[in-house]
Amino acid sequence: MRRNPHKPRFHDGAPLLPALLLAAASSLASEPLAEPRWSPNDRLHRERLSAVQESVDSLARRRREIRRTDGLLDLRCNFHAHAGDSTHTGGTPEEILAAARSVGVDVLFLSDHFRPPRDFMDGWRGLRDGVLFIPGSECRGFLVSPERSVFQSMQEPIPEFVRTVNRGDGLIFLSHIEERPDHPMDGLTGLEIYNRHYDAKRDFTGILKLVLRLTDPEQVVELADLLRRYPDACLAGQAAYPQAYLEKWDAATATGRFTGVAANDCHHNQVFLVKKLDDDTALIGTVVDKDEDMRKVKALLRPALRRLLAGHKPGDVVVRLDFDPYERSLRNVSTHVLASEKTEPALRTAVKAGRAYVSHDWMADPTGFEFGGTDGLRMGDERPWTAGTVLRVESPLPAKIRLIRDGLQVALEEGYSLRHETAGPGVYRVELWFDLGGEVRPWLYSNPVYLRPATGN
Ligand SMILES: [Zn+2]
Ligand SMILES: [Zn+2]
Repeated sequence: MRRNPHKPRFHDGAPLLPALLLAAASSLASEPLAEPRWSPNDRLHRERLSAVQESVDSLARRRREIRRTDGLLDLRCNFHAHAGDSTHTGGTPEEILAAARSVGVDVLFLSDHFRPPRDFMDGWRGLRDGVLFIPGSECRGFLVSPERSVFQSMQEPIPEFVRTVNRGDGLIFLSHIEERPDHPMDGLTGLEIYNRHYDAKRDFTGILKLVLRLTDPEQVVELADLLRRYPDACLAGQAAYPQAYLEKWDAATATGRFTGVAANDCHHNQVFLVKKLDDDTALIGTVVDKDEDMRKVKALLRPALRRLLAGHKPGDVVVRLDFDPYERSLRNVSTHVLASEKTEPALRTAVKAGRAYVSHDWMADPTGFEFGGTDGLRMGDERPWTAGTVLRVESPLPAKIRLIRDGLQVALEEGYSLRHETAGPGVYRVELWFDLGGEVRPWLYSNPVYLRPATGN
C-alpha cells in the first residue's frame, strides 16, 4: 500500500488526545480498488489507447436503461469551469456554451477567477440555448456560487466570508484539496472530491516526456493521429484515484454532511505549441504562455528537432496539438445532480441535499445510476441507523461496484447491482470501477447516505 503524503502531521508537544482522535480519523483508508497499471505517459500509446476504446465500445453495448421512479431529473453538470475569465484561460463563454450543447451538458457552474473591478456575479446567468449557467468564482481556496453579489465581502475574514456566501441558498466548496488538506470544513456545502487539474499537476514526468515527444516529427504525427482517434482517452491519460481528496471527505463526513462534486477545472489551455526560434531552437509551451515563459529546446539535445523546424520561418508555429477543447473536458468528468427541475433554485436545493454523483462520462454515460435503500432512503439522506437497513445500488452498465463504509470497503460486487444489509451505522458511499483495456480504473463516485448511530435511550 502506498504511503499517503497528505496524512496530518503532529507537532511536538501537541496534547495527546486530539492527536489520537486525528490519527483515528486519518486511518480512514480510502484506498483505491486497484493501483494504476501504467503511467500517464505510457497510456498515451496506440495499443493502450485502442484497447481502452474497445472496452468503452463494448461497455456501451451492454448498457441497460434505468427509469427513475422518484420524478427527479438526472442533470449533467460541470462545476469549476473557466471561460474568458483570466489570462491563463484560452476559451470563451460562447465556446463553452457550444461545447455544452454538443456534449449534452445541462448546467455549468462557472468559477471565474476573481478580477476586480469585475463582479463575477455579472457573468452569464440563466438558460442560454438550453444550458443553465450559474455564475460563481474560484477564490480564496473555495468554489463559490452565492445567490447575490458578495463583491463587497471579498476581504472578510474566512469564517465571515463563508457565512456571507451561504446566505439564502449560496453554495461554497473547498477546492484544490491538495493545497489545503487540513483546511476546516465549518459552514461549507462540500468539497471537490476530484479535480482534473490536480492530475495534471501530479504528472510532472509525463508532461516532460510529452514535451520531448513534441520535438520529434514522427512522434508529432503519431500524437496528432492518436488525439484525433482517441481524444477522450488521451485527455484522461493523467486521471488517477483522488485519494487525498477522498480521505479528506471521508474524515469530514464522519461528523457532518458535505456534498462531493467534481472539479472539471477546464480552461481550454492545454493546447501545446512548438514555435520556431531559429533553425536549431524551438520554444515549447501552451497557447496561453508568453514566449518568455515557454521552454527553450536546442537541436543539440534533440537532433530530430532540426527536421521539424526545416522549411519554416522564425516565429512560425510548427506544431499545435489541442488536448482539451471544451467538448473533451466536459466529457472528461462531471457531476450528475438529481433535481426536481432544471432551474437554479432546484439545483441549489439538490446539491445541498447531496443528491449527486461524480463520473467520468467519456467512459460511459452513467445516467440512471441509483444509490439508496430501505424506506425510501436516497443518496444524501441522513437518519439514525436501524437494524435491517438494506442499501441498494443500480448501475446502467456492468461494473465493479464497491460499497465503502467510513472510508473502508465493506462489499464488492461485479455486475449491474449491489445489495447490502448494513451491520451498523456509518457513512456509506459507492465507487464504480471499470476494466478498461486491462487496467482497472475508477468511473463513478456517489455521494453518501449517512446512517448515524441512534442517540438517546
Ligand atoms: Zn485557473
Ligand atoms: Zn480553476
